[in-house]
Amino acid sequence: MNVHVNDDSIATVSNYIAGEAKAASSDRHQDIYNPATGNVSAKVVMSTAADVDDAVKAAAAAFPAWADTPPIRRARVMNRFLALVNENRDELAKTITSQHGKVFSDAQGEVDRAIDVIEFACGAPNLLKGDFTDQVSSGMDNWTMRQPLGVVAGITPFNFPVMVPAWMFPIAIACGNTFILKPSPTDPTPSLMIADLFKQAGLPDGVFNVVQGDKEAVDALLAHPDVKAASFVGSTPIANYVYETGARNGKRVQALGGAKNHLVVMPDADLDKTVDGLIGAAYGSAGERCMAISVAVLVGDIADPVIERLKERANSLQIGNGMEAASEMGPIVTDAARQRISGYIEKGVAEGAKLVVDGRGYSVAGHEAGFFLGATLFDGVTPDMTIYKEEIFGPVLSCIRVSNFEEALELINAHEFANGVSCYTRDGNIAREFARRIEVGMVGINVPIPVPMAWHGFGGWKRSLFGDMHAYGEEGVRFYTRQKSVLQRWPESMSKGAEFAMPVSK
Ligand code: NAD
Repeated sequence: MNVHVNDDSIATVSNYIAGEAKAASSDRHQDIYNPATGNVSAKVVMSTAADVDDAVKAAAAAFPAWADTPPIRRARVMNRFLALVNENRDELAKTITSQHGKVFSDAQGEVDRAIDVIEFACGAPNLLKGDFTDQVSSGMDNWTMRQPLGVVAGITPFNFPVMVPAWMFPIAIACGNTFILKPSPTDPTPSLMIADLFKQAGLPDGVFNVVQGDKEAVDALLAHPDVKAASFVGSTPIANYVYETGARNGKRVQALGGAKNHLVVMPDADLDKTVDGLIGAAYGSAGERCMAISVAVLVGDIADPVIERLKERANSLQIGNGMEAASEMGPIVTDAARQRISGYIEKGVAEGAKLVVDGRGYSVAGHEAGFFLGATLFDGVTPDMTIYKEEIFGPVLSCIRVSNFEEALELINAHEFANGVSCYTRDGNIAREFARRIEVGMVGINVPIPVPMAWHGFGGWKRSLFGDMHAYGEEGVRFYTRQKSVLQRWPESMSKGAEFAMPVSK
């Protein structure tokens, strides 16, 4: 694929503007690591405000013709892109594993979830139909249509370099907008692979653009008067900042933030299946998922057997290079992230939690320089502890013991994060009460990671989402379009003379 490679031995991941790979105007770079080996595999350019301006100009120039293209023809381009993403699924997944570290099967699953949203976006002609009322008043009709916004931007995190951008650009583009992606500099290569596949699919130049970089590029996007909307996914402090800054600059913003997802285990839950759910949801992708379960809320007597089984399973987890089929968990994304997570483990011990399994100092034979960390399990965690209050974003599961369902509800509803939550039970009424009374955006009943499918929309509550609309699904269509209402009549049905009273239906 068309990743820009310099003559030096190390590839440079560049910008992609107006249909071409483009170097940035500064020589500031960031190294890209393979987390399993600890080696630098490539570097990525860091864009300036001038680069962002180039991308916005290209996207603005492409907008009128793309917005005017009939939705069915936009959808045909999206259909060709869909076929190409399917054909290149494993190549995309390999790239994800080599820069993020997650195991290959998990990376394939990430691409599959991106494909779901692309498929949804192929239905744009149907989604953009609008409403019509015949004879809203005598001789008058009223209809609404949804029109694209213009140039829109997506700012995305490291943990899903294919799936999270795909929550945004397929719908934005299918709705007639032109798009600028600012991916995470930690694993930016998939962004250029996507650009290349769009080119092959026949997407006009300038409709999909990529600016690599960090805060400098984000600030330039948020300040640019021709960027009409920004979708952000990342940590809560930055989500909050992007929301406030974008709104202050008159943009439509949706900013999805961090999480602390709880899984409640009721005493009647199926023990083995609950432990299966917890192990996968806590340690899959090394806990670097915004929907990872980081807190198990153990209700009543089930706590001891759950902890016992979790201890056994966490100790025997297969940790290794994500490209090896036997690996269940790969490395942490960077050494800095590993240090941050280890710091939290230290703090948990210092604040009095019981460390049942300690993942620190974990090493994988043959990959001694990789950023590995073992699975970590805490028991006896309390709501005042730092490891409970803050997002750790690593393979650390904290267990809290409570005596009944009401206590579990109260605990979770008091947390500042409210992205996902789950409850394992066999009791239908408990399940119903839980789903109705829990103050969290996405709920699973005996489902550990309740990520909604492409047509349902994704989003948390409280400090896990800033803005009014969730990502993708029909909420995505609403976010990337604005409604226009048209009232129409013809001289034959118009009465004579000026009217000074408020018009009403006649
Ligand atoms: P991050 O907030 O550090 O970075 C996200 C994006 O913001 C990146 O593109 C980054 O370059 C940019 N950025 C970083 N610092 C910035 C600053 N000071 N000003 C402007 N832009 C800045 O997040 P991350 O570490 O890449 O990703 C992990 C976080 O994302 C976790 O908190 C996780 O919960 C969250 N996340 C949330 C969801 C969700 O749907 N709610 C999904 C995935 C990840």
